[in-house]
Amino acid sequence: MNAEIIAVGTELLLGQIVNSNAQFLSRELAELGVHVYYHTVVGDNPRRLEKAISAAEERADLIIFTGGLGPTKDDLTKEVIAKHIGKQLVEDTHAMEAITSYFQKTGRKMSENNKKQALVLEGAIVLPNEHGMAPGMFVKQAHHLYMLLPGPPHEMQPMLRKYGAPTILDQLESRERIESRVLRYFGIGESQLEMEIEDLIDAQTNPTIAPLAGDNEVTIRITARDRSQERATQLIDEMESKINNRVGEFFYGYDQTTIMKELLTVLDKKKLTIAAAESLTGGMFQSEMTGITGVSTMLIGGVVCYSSQSKIKLCHVKEETIEKHGVVSEQCAIELAENIRMILGTNIGISFTGVAGPDSLEGHPAGLVWIGISFDDRPTKTYQLNLSGSRIGNQKRTVRYGCHYLLKELTN
Ligand code: ATP
Repeated sequence: MNAEIIAVGTELLLGQIVNSNAQFLSRELAELGVHVYYHTVVGDNPRRLEKAISAAEERADLIIFTGGLGPTKDDLTKEVIAKHIGKQLVEDTHAMEAITSYFQKTGRKMSENNKKQALVLEGAIVLPNEHGMAPGMFVKQAHHLYMLLPGPPHEMQPMLRKYGAPTILDQLESRERIESRVLRYFGIGESQLEMEIEDLIDAQTNPTIAPLAGDNEVTIRITARDRSQERATQLIDEMESKINNRVGEFFYGYDQTTIMKELLTVLDKKKLTIAAAESLTGGMFQSEMTGITGVSTMLIGGVVCYSSQSKIKLCHVKEETIEKHGVVSEQCAIELAENIRMILGTNIGISFTGVAGPDSLEGHPAGLVWIGISFDDRPTKTYQLNLSGSRIGNQKRTVRYGCHYLLKELTN
């Protein structure tokens, strides 16, 4: 099976948004074993959209549309497709119920326009939208398959994964199961990781291994196919062990997790409490932590001690320490971590002090950071980072390194 992706939206042509939906869909389809040969972008114009559909029909079995399923006049994807393939638009009861209940819940007034979102192509398999109102659709007509997905990525991606992909798989001749698992790594660069597993990548057939550099981390997606789901899972397990025999020290979790979530899971399991003293990160560590539910039994609190004065007054760092070593120093990180732990009576105190940049501080270059970890009666640990990103990038990486070192401390 080969596919074409048609992204509908004038804002894509004007450069106001990037066609990230095409990138996401291509990646997902590759994993299903569907070849994508063309990406098309077309504006909200019925005549040009219809031309794009005709062109796609010449060269693809499956045509996937994103965008233009909304309630407004310029949202015309399903109307144009309906006309093109000679199908009626009919009201879908479930979609209408979901839309009505959304308006009841939010107390907002439902307009006639919104009813339009419950219209689907007759005979289509309806793909529920669990994050918005416009349902997706899948319809077979003559020799072609058409899948219509909403534009907003946070609606489209879960819809494709949960409902769209299984529907496509049902159409494939071979009924192989495709299983995939994402392994997440922190503290190792993409090129080093690739070097460590180069021979496995070169020899890959089933399962396949796809490394990807992400936001301050690297992931590896392992994908296996087999008629038996158990066998596919077993193939993934075997490949995961081979990979982690080499780079396991940098591995922290699977699929959609984050290093902060993993840290909280360990804190929860071990029933530990934590407090933080943050200088260059300005509260980012605690803010990220409080973004995760269930944190209240673990995070007791902390301070943003950005100035020397607040380090002394709120975290009881000795004046002599700052005079002798400066605020960007190992000694300062130690006192901040130990003192915040004592002040708040927690198991763990973590501190971040350093130069976020772009300017240097106390003669230290931007990106020089000290992290301190004080954990019960263990000797306080310190870690020096030499980062080279933007100010915000350095702050984010510092927070992740804090999680990384703390996870190591807690799991050793
Ligand atoms: P809505 O119900 O929100 O109107 P829709 O299915 O009609 O959804 P559009 O109106 O075309 O979709 O686009 C809504 C938003 O979705 C866009 O403003 C943009 O933020 C995002 N979006 C649309 N198409 C793409 C795309 N190809 N890649 C990334 N984002 C997109």
